[in-house]
Amino acid sequence: MKISFIRPVTGILILAAILLISCAENIPEELLIVPEKTNYEATSTHADVMQFVNTIKEMKSSKVHVEIMAVSVEGREVPLVVLAEPKITTPGEAVSSGKPVIYVQGNIHAGEVEGKEALLLIMRDILYGDKKHLLDDQILLISPIYNADGNDNMSEDSRRSQHGSPKLAGQRSNGQGLDLNRDGIKAEGVETQGLLKNVLIKWDPVLLVDLHTTNGTMHGYSLTYAPNYPSAGHTATSEYVMDTMLPYIRESVKKEYDLDMYLYGGFRIGGRGGQEWPPKTWDLWSILYQPRFMMNYVGLRNMMGILSETFAYDPFDKRILSAKAFTSEILEYTNKHGRDMRETNRRAAEETVRNVVENAGTFTMGVKHRLIPYGDPFTLLTYKYTEQTDSTSGRVRWRATDELVEIPGVQNMGWFEPDVERAVPRGYIFPAELSNIADKLMMHGIDVKTLESNVSAEGEEFIIESFQQSSREYQGHRLVSMKGSFVSRSLNLPEGSYYVDMAQPLASLVFYMLEPESDDGLVVWNYFDEYLKVRGVENKRIPFPVFKYYSINQRD
Ligand SMILES: [Zn+2]
Repeated sequence: MKISFIRPVTGILILAAILLISCAENIPEELLIVPEKTNYEATSTHADVMQFVNTIKEMKSSKVHVEIMAVSVEGREVPLVVLAEPKITTPGEAVSSGKPVIYVQGNIHAGEVEGKEALLLIMRDILYGDKKHLLDDQILLISPIYNADGNDNMSEDSRRSQHGSPKLAGQRSNGQGLDLNRDGIKAEGVETQGLLKNVLIKWDPVLLVDLHTTNGTMHGYSLTYAPNYPSAGHTATSEYVMDTMLPYIRESVKKEYDLDMYLYGGFRIGGRGGQEWPPKTWDLWSILYQPRFMMNYVGLRNMMGILSETFAYDPFDKRILSAKAFTSEILEYTNKHGRDMRETNRRAAEETVRNVVENAGTFTMGVKHRLIPYGDPFTLLTYKYTEQTDSTSGRVRWRATDELVEIPGVQNMGWFEPDVERAVPRGYIFPAELSNIADKLMMHGIDVKTLESNVSAEGEEFIIESFQQSSREYQGHRLVSMKGSFVSRSLNLPEGSYYVDMAQPLASLVFYMLEPESDDGLVVWNYFDEYLKVRGVENKRIPFPVFKYYSINQRD
């Protein structure tokens, strides 16, 4: 079935809108979204979204429940719309219903507004249009305006590369100046903290979908997407999304909407490190597995994640349509398979715990990963690149033409495997003084305890041999990397020390946060700086204060 896109402002398309509405329920005037009302020249403000949300809450009170998942630093409420048939207002009711919970967020980068608008349209389709069945066997949590402060901080030049953008669009960062899609581990954004507490921990969704828009390579796809890449721990969730779910959705989007979509990536032609035309590989950013990216972060929680990127060079209306088509087909899929997905997640969590209990100390997980090829060579759809001379500078550069071509035999380089691996302990112990570490772990819902008596523990201590801190500031931090070596030893640890037993479902997350050489752990984000610097880490070898234990004995 082809969906016509309604454009109520322009004359001819009003007819299409009426036709569409006539076969559905009447859509109240208040539920036309801002792009529809402005001939796609403007995007919704936070107030517009709140008005939409309040309208559906009033008019469809039997299916719509609204919570506030965070309050931004500028005081804007970030709404979380819970759609269910019948209405669900608590996680307990969700569990009793037996239906899986699916979470979708738009606008984390608030200049990338398509997801926000698409989510409003999807909610409208579910409540008034031809998508009512999407509540048959799932509960939907929708966060259309995740970065509300960034959204309303609009300017004309925030998304220069976007074709036919709304004239004014928001900023990438939130009100604290943070990129919320680098915040998975440090969770310093109030929005991230709200996501952890009020969505992930509270509602335990099966899947997180994060909606973006990207520029870069002039490929031929309306939208590119990525799974939660394997960062550490159980790979069942990544593999399910990559191998089973996304290929199916790619086909269904093609069939239902005639849109071409493919895995996130790109190529660069010419210049240093660039490829020759035609490209042989479809490349991925080498750190895109890290859990600072929200889709990967949820993988460490044994949940599934999907990153969606509409194509910046498509016109604004098409970008919204692409985001809507992709998200709708995801929700068609989860409506049918959400219970299987939940079972996959549950097994991943169970096996994670069992592996620690049975095999701690004898198996490893990655603290850094590297890119590897994925699948067989494929036929890439892209605009043709040619060498073109810049008329003013005279420089020759490779640029895309407007000819769409198919290039067979391209290798997708978009998968990861562990590069540096470390032993997984039974647990971690660290001094009472490091309450900032305990607090951060607990913010993620990790079970942290304190020793009720002195103990002796057998395990490994990491001796820090080098402590490097970046001179460049990034996300309010100067990132740290450490080198060193583990030595086996037994250690006496005093009552009151914190300990984290790895026999818990979030063990993979604990590992990535606490391993000293993890490339996206709490060391990287400066959480140990003060403790280590006072002890002279910059001038001499000292032990890292988090002890990896394999067994614990009570002492007194
Ligand atoms: Zn983005």
